[in-house]
Amino acid sequence: MATKARMETENIDDLVSDFSRFYILTILYEGPAHGYQILSRFKKRVKKEVSPSLVYPFLQQLERKGLVKHKLKSVGEKEKKVFELTRRGRELTTALFKRFAELVSIAIEPSLYVCAHCGCKVYEGAYRETIGGEELAFCCKHCARSYKEMKNAPQSSEQN
Ligand SMILES: [Zn+2]
Repeated sequence: MATKARMETENIDDLVSDFSRFYILTILYEGPAHGYQILSRFKKRVKKEVSPSLVYPFLQQLERKGLVKHKLKSVGEKEKKVFELTRRGRELTTALFKRFAELVSIAIEPSLYVCAHCGCKVYEGAYRETIGGEELAFCCKHCARSYKEMKNAPQSSEQN
């Protein structure tokens, strides 16, 4: 079964070979959209135009693979195709997001600190203090103080 899921993920790799296609899936993941909405959301967020000659054939490909379905909806006087991910399409998109997150975490993690006291993630502006000869990062002064208190009096952590 794991093998089957893997094959399907590889299948989608052939389809999603660039950022534009990846981002079209992201838009569909948020909810149903017709072609023009996909084009305009793409432009608004990516700050770049995506060609309709990429979007429409891609939607057709996804539909043939059973990853997307469409409904006809009247918008003004016209009927528009509203595209939506199928359940399988959502599953594959989620798998793709996870893989993508793993890839980008390599670039993001080095700038990420974890507060030595509460364990929350600090993206920038960590509060640093040298305690016991070791430079530690905290999310705030208060966490640094609590950390020192706990370190100096490990038995008294129940007081507060
Ligand atoms: Zn903290």
